[in-house]
Parts: sequence; structure tokens; C-alpha cells
Amino acid sequence: MPTPLEEEIKQLIAVDGPLSVARYMELCLAHPTHGYYVTRDPFGVHGDFTTSPEISQMFGELLGLWAAAAWRAMGAPSLVVLAELGPGRGTLMLDALRAATLVPEFRAALSVAFVETSPVLRAQQEAAFDEVDAKVTWHADLADVAEGPIIVIANEFFDALPIHQAVKTQAGWHDRMIGADAEGRLIFALNPDPIPSFESILPQRLRNAQPGAIFEWRSDRTVNEICRRLLSFGGVALALDYGHVEMGLGDTLQAVRAHAYVDPLERPGDSDLTAHVDFAALVGAAHHAGVKTFGPLTQRDFLIRLGIEARAGRLKASASPGQMADVDSALARLIGTGRNEMGALFKVLALANSRLQTLPAFDS
Ligand code: SAH
Repeated sequence: MPTPLEEEIKQLIAVDGPLSVARYMELCLAHPTHGYYVTRDPFGVHGDFTTSPEISQMFGELLGLWAAAAWRAMGAPSLVVLAELGPGRGTLMLDALRAATLVPEFRAALSVAFVETSPVLRAQQEAAFDEVDAKVTWHADLADVAEGPIIVIANEFFDALPIHQAVKTQAGWHDRMIGADAEGRLIFALNPDPIPSFESILPQRLRNAQPGAIFEWRSDRTVNEICRRLLSFGGVALALDYGHVEMGLGDTLQAVRAHAYVDPLERPGDSDLTAHVDFAALVGAAHHAGVKTFGPLTQRDFLIRLGIEARAGRLKASASPGQMADVDSALARLIGTGRNEMGALFKVLALANSRLQTLPAFDS
């Protein structure tokens, strides 16, 4: 049985022709009734994937302390918005606020702004923050958050933003599209017309790519809005995600269901679609806007510099043997560099107003 979204996508293709990869990804994730994030809570053992804050409380706690130190570096403004893009179940922020009570002036200065498009996850966040003593607001877009000094945190947010893909042929670079074959199956296709002057936006070393090569990019809309706020009101932003530090070639679009990779064109709306974050593109957009960048560091280096090993030691000191093993395996998952571990694959990039001299974890 095709998914309801698959039927709708095939109709769109029949009427208007093939969709860009970005449009397809956007429909799969955010279609108002059938989108993946619109219809479910995807996290945890019984869900489709697990994220760092869901693996261990240590992650959100360290980010809360990082935010408190960043607030000091900003000159300790008396009011600051702690904004989280794509907060999932709200776990990171709950852990961050608990840790932030160690810096009472910061805890008193902050209000929380969640940027979330999923009604299911927003309802979960509302329930999780029902009893929390903090001002919390929800917004569909960062542009709707109150203006003022801001600390933005985005964990596994940018990877969920739609990517465009272009494919090299003898004739140039073409938008990669999604169409349907004679049997009505969704297939990848190319826009027959090359994208005019596409090569000129590529770094020099990617310009002689072989036919078949794929280049991916995302809209700079969100990073530009972050930069505008950092420049106008002061602040910092922290992006943590899986991705690459240098711009490169390759198809990184991936679909995950029940903790396994599946075909991105199969059962649209039923699996999580993501693609690697191009940290070089984020850095480029920030510099273009006049915003300073720190890192990217690997998640391993970032968390070790923030003291995750000592935090794990303290948690273990008051734990049962079973809990001690859980702390050890969570630590390995977050900072390990092996397969299925997040320490090397995940990168951490900070953006800041150029008046800001140092940031915790990025100085040493
Ligand atoms: N940060 C959380 C969740 C990551 S999953 C964690 O680490 O556990 C991606 C999150 O981004 C979800 O909350 C999803 O609903 C949200 N999201 C995806 N696209 C979005 C968009 N364009 N605007 C706002 N939120 C979005």
C-alpha cells in the first residue's frame, strides 16, 4: 500500500512534472497532514532514531553550562532569549535549565523560545514544560521570536532542513528531481536544462567534477536570520550536527526508519529524511554576513573540553552497577569515534557577534 503522501506526490508530479529534491524532502518531513514530523514522535528505542540529549542527561546539562558561560562572555545582559531550533521532546532544554540553576543570575535573565513546526512535538514540549519555572514561548519560525540578545542552540536541526542536489553531466550541472516511472514508482531524474553558471558558485577544486558527481546545498535563510540577530542585538549560536567540515561532492540524502537505513523514495512520510550538514557553507554564510565563527570542533573534543568525563564520573559515583554501565555506554556513544558513535561524525560550530572574544570549549 502506498502511503497517502506517496499518492499525493504522484498527483503533483502528474500535474506539474517532477519535484526538486528539496521540495520532496520538505513534503516528506513537513506536509501539513502527512509529514513525518507532523504525525509522530520519532525518538527513542521504539521510534526511528535517537539523538544526543535522548542518550544522556549529560549532553543538555553541559550545553546549559556552556550557555551560561556564553552569556557571561556576552556581558551578562539582564534579559536574554535562550532559543532552541527543533527541540524534539524538550529534553535538551530541561537538562540545560536544571544545570543553569548553578548560575542563578543567568537562570533569572533567560526566557526560552522554542522554534518548532511539528504539532505533535510541540504538544510534548508543552507537557514537559508545564511545571517548569521559566517563561517559554513557541514559534513556527526563528523570525517570529522576540528581538534582543539571544543564545541559539540547534542540535540535529540543520540536517532536517531540505537540501537541493545538482548532478554533473557533459552539459553542465542539473537539478536532481523526483519523478515517476511507467509503473508509477518514484524515481530520481534530472532536469534536462543545466543550471546557468552553476560552476561559478562551486569552490575551485570541485569545478572539474566527473559526470555523475552530486553537489548538495541548503537555503541560507535560517543562518542569515541568526546572523542578523547576532549583529543587531548581540549573542551566540551553537549548531551541533552530523556533517562535513569541507565542502565536498556526494549524495548524503538518507532515510531512517526503526533505526535502519531505507530507500528515501520508499514510503514517503514514513521515514526520517536528513542529509549531512555542510559546515563550510554555514561558516561561509556567517562570514559573508560579518559574523565570527568558532570551530567546527568534533563533538568529542567539544564535550571533553566541557568536562563530560568528570560529569560521567560524578554520575557514576552515586549509581548502581547497572546505572554505571549505562553512563559508560552513553559516554561512549556521545564521544566515541567508532561506527555508530557520534564523537567524530558530529561537529559543533559556534557563531557570534564579532565583539565576542572567547567562548568556552573553543579557546583551547
Ligand atoms: N533537537 C532535538 C530534535 C532533533 S529532530 C534532539 O536533539 O533530540 C529535528 C527537530 O527539528 C524536530 O523537533 C522537528 O520537528 C524540528 N524541525 C524540523 N524542521 C523544522 C523547521 N523547518 N522549523 C522548525 N523545526 C523543525
